[in-house]
This record gives sequence, structure tokens and C-alpha cells, in this order.
Amino acid sequence: MKECHILSLSGGKDSTALAFFIKDNMPEIHKKIEYVFFDTGCDLDETYDYLNKLEVFLEKPILRIKPEKSFEHLYEMYKFLPSLKFRWCTIHMKTDTFKKYMNEKTKKGFEKINLYVGIRADEPQRVENYKKQNKENENSILKTHYPLYENGLNEKDVYNLLVTNGVGYPDYYDWRSRSGCYFCFFQRKIEWIGLLERHPDLFQKALLFEKKAGKGFTWCQNISLEELKKPCNVKKIKDSYKKRFEKKGFKNKKLIDCI
Ligand code: SF4
Repeated sequence: MKECHILSLSGGKDSTALAFFIKDNMPEIHKKIEYVFFDTGCDLDETYDYLNKLEVFLEKPILRIKPEKSFEHLYEMYKFLPSLKFRWCTIHMKTDTFKKYMNEKTKKGFEKINLYVGIRADEPQRVENYKKQNKENENSILKTHYPLYENGLNEKDVYNLLVTNGVGYPDYYDWRSRSGCYFCFFQRKIEWIGLLERHPDLFQKALLFEKKAGKGFTWCQNISLEELKKPCNVKKIKDSYKKRFEKKGFKNKKLIDCI
């Protein structure tokens, strides 16, 4: 049977740890697997730098696949911001691109596509959700594997895998809890402030998308970026997070450890 193996790297810690787990423990798969990054073009420079570093440490190239339409193009079509209620960003820039890539594999004659997903043992609900969302059935040529989950690897093991392999966490984890677009609406207010301080140009770009979308459309709940960036609000948000972290005993920890 003609089959292929694929791991979609997000530029985050779990999918990266899975790549190293495969390299260290499943060398036959590592030889054959394709590491893929679905590139929206909207990730942070830190993510692209991390991917370049991974290629060296994994000793394999990472295939970067762009969506048919850029975020800017899609935004002109929709004329409103993507949100939890309507994630047109994910649908067009990730899901459709992934489906197209899978179809290409089928056209090339692959009868089985093994997909490796970086869900950890301490997140069993995510496995259930993933299965439900992707509605994988017995007749499907797609077979999903969860090596971290199946081998009982948790958050601490992910950290150890990244450290022992010499890559560590991506730099953005100092101030942000997830990979993805710089304007991602899943960001917390404190992460928007991180963007404002580290990437003021990107913050400004996100602000302009918001302004163009018109009244009532904001990336963040209840506050526009124009308001959020005011020094009094920056201070208020920072103080409130500081208090929250200290209360939990998270003093001097990175954001990734706290949220
Ligand atoms: S990272 Fe956020 S903004 Fe980007 S595609 Fe995913 S949900 Fe949308």
C-alpha cells in the first residue's frame, strides 16, 4: 500500500516536541515523514526563526505551504474581522489549505495518509475533540496518530524533549502563550501589550484592520486596540496580571508558565 507520513508543525512547543519524539524514538518514520508548516504569512518573525532553527536540528526540511488567498485578500472579501463566531481565517488559511494538500496526496496515488498530531497525555479532551471535529471514519484514507498522548507524555516531558534536543521554546513564549497570527483574537489583553511593546509595527497593522472594519468590530472583547494602547490602560492591564500571577505564586515566571 502506498502511504505517506505527515506532521503539521505550528511553530509551537507541542508539535515541535512531537517532531523530536519521532526523530528520537521512531527513526523509520522520521526518515519518511514530511514536516509541513501551513504558512498564513501572518506569524511572528520569532516563529519563522524557530522553524529555520528546527530544520537544522531535525536535519530535515520543513515544507511551507501558503493559502490560496492572503489574509489581506480575504479581509477585503469579508470586510469584517474574523472571530470566535466566524473563524474565516482558519477556514481559508489553514483548513482549506490542508484539505488541498491532502487531495494532492490522493491524486499522487497515496492510499493511506498517516497524520501525526501533537496532543499531550494531559489533554485527553483535546483528542476527543479532534476526532469529533475531523470525523475520521474507518473508510477514510487518513489515519491520525497521537504519539505524545499514546506514550503518556505531558507538559513537563515536552519541555524536556525541547531542552535535551537543544532547541528550547520559541522566543515568543516569553510574552505570548501560543503560536499563530500576530493579530490572533485568542490573545489575551496582556499578550496584545506584549505585541505592542515588541512589535509595534504589527500592533499598528492590527489596529488598522480593526479601524477599517468599523465600529463594533474589535479583536479584543470590549476594548479597541486604540483604547488598549493608552498608557493608563497598559498600566491597568499589567498591574492586574501581575497581581493575578503573584497570587498564584507565579512571580518571575514566563507568560507561558502562567496562562
Ligand atoms: S492563529 Fe488565530 S487569527 Fe490566525 S488563523 Fe488561527 S485562529 Fe485565525
